[in-house]
Amino acid sequence: MKDIIIVGGGIAGLTAGLYAQRGGMDSLLFEKMFAGGQAATTYMIENYPGFVEPISGPDFASQLESHARKFGLPILYDEVVELKIEDKIKKVVTNKETYEAKALILAMGAQPRTLGLSREDEFRGKGISYCATCDGFFYKDKEVAVVGGGDTALSDAIYLSGYAKKVYLIHRRDEFRGSQILQDRVFEKDNIEIIWNGIVTEIIAEDKVEGVMIQDVLSKEEKKLKVDGLFVAIGIVPNNELVHGKVDMSEAGFVISDENMNTNIKGVFVAGDLRQKTLWQLVTAAADGALAATSAQNYIIENFT
Ligand SMILES: Cc1cc2nc3c(=O)[nH]c(=O)nc-3n(C[C@H](O)[C@H](O)[C@H](O)COP(=O)(O)OP(=O)(O)OC[C@H]3O[C@@H](n4cnc5c(N)ncnc54)[C@H](O)[C@@H]3O)c2cc1C
Repeated sequence: MKDIIIVGGGIAGLTAGLYAQRGGMDSLLFEKMFAGGQAATTYMIENYPGFVEPISGPDFASQLESHARKFGLPILYDEVVELKIEDKIKKVVTNKETYEAKALILAMGAQPRTLGLSREDEFRGKGISYCATCDGFFYKDKEVAVVGGGDTALSDAIYLSGYAKKVYLIHRRDEFRGSQILQDRVFEKDNIEIIWNGIVTEIIAEDKVEGVMIQDVLSKEEKKLKVDGLFVAIGIVPNNELVHGKVDMSEAGFVISDENMNTNIKGVFVAGDLRQKTLWQLVTAAADGALAATSAQNYIIENFT
């Protein structure tokens, strides 16, 4: 039996693993895709304290993994398909095996929110993307649209403006939510055109995306916009399937915890974007991970020794 099992190898899970190992815990982390999670899909990170120069997402993710491994964290690249959390001993089920732990840290993170349009799924990868840094390269000298008004949408538009001939930034309000520094950079770019008060109502596509229909939310007028790609950056949804109905969650599905990352289930802790909070960022996910590991360690000392 392990002391602590961590589900998810984004910054929250890897930080939890680093702290757990340094604390002398026998821990194990599961990751179903690649270490670093969303951070690995980010173009440039320039708001993580201590990194004065911007660092690319993949480099940052690789450093996170190396750092956790340096303290001996075992990382298993396997998907967790079920969690049994009601008893004192927690069970973590993959397709191959069941593992046991004294404490569990939920760090499954989040994924981009979709627009919910009828043909969205069908054309994912054929002109619709949720990751500018992953797919931007394919749109060299083409015309693309980005939907959203927060930091991710703004930085996606800036990133894509380096490849695409033209970037339309479609936002449903008349001002951005994103940080001022990113807004200023967007306004400076000659090849970014902002479409205020606009929502995408339809995807126009045959074999691949050819354009979108945009509705002006004020006048209700619709117009066709010819684009080769549509990048959706309208927020996140928590990866909560494993614990749905098993732990307390907010209405939007984020796991509720106290300030020490305790969920309502004893021995189950949460960290990162999966957690209900007001700022879903790398720095808060890292802090959550550190706290979750420390709380899990204290819980084990109190309940298993
Ligand atoms: C494009 C983009 C740009 C961003 N830019 C910035 C930025 O500049 N600065 C900043 O501070 N923040 C930024 N963010 C937000 C930041 O990336 C997140 O807040 C942070 O990565 C959350 O980390 P996490 O570990 O909680 O979750 P995630 O990064 O989502 O990691 C969760 C991990 O869990 C794994 N997982 C899920 N379910 C299972 C399962 N069943 N079994 C095994 N593994 C599982 C996933 O594969 C994933 O790797 C950005 C986000 C995006 C998408």
